[in-house]
Amino acid sequence: MNLKKVKGYLGFKKMEKEGCPLCRLVEGEIKTHKYYRDVTCIIVDCLTCRIPMVVVNHHGQATEEDKRLMVNAIDYLFEYHSIRRVPRQIVDHEHWHVIGARLKKA
Ligand SMILES: [Zn+2]
Ligand SMILES: [Zn+2]
Repeated sequence: MNLKKVKGYLGFKKMEKEGCPLCRLVEGEIKTHKYYRDVTCIIVDCLTCRIPMVVVNHHGQATEEDKRLMVNAIDYLFEYHSIRRVPRQIVDHEHWHVIGARLKKA
């Protein structure tokens, strides 16, 4: 891979992040209850819906590996009805809502 290209791409990604509330969230601006965080994702209550929401730790769409780990994290924490992967407002930073979530007992 060409290093110059990679640098340019990262620069572009960084610019895209400006004003993205989910980027601010993964960088630590957490206003609701936080359930979980690891190198792949963070799980907090959605500010709008007040239900658990899993957000990938980087701006953009989750990779297949990210998605696998995000599902693992949800399965680890919750009993739930379904995962809504279709975004309603922010389409360029992958995040899912966990529908019918109930925390598993430890
Ligand atoms: Zn929501
Ligand atoms: Zn973002």
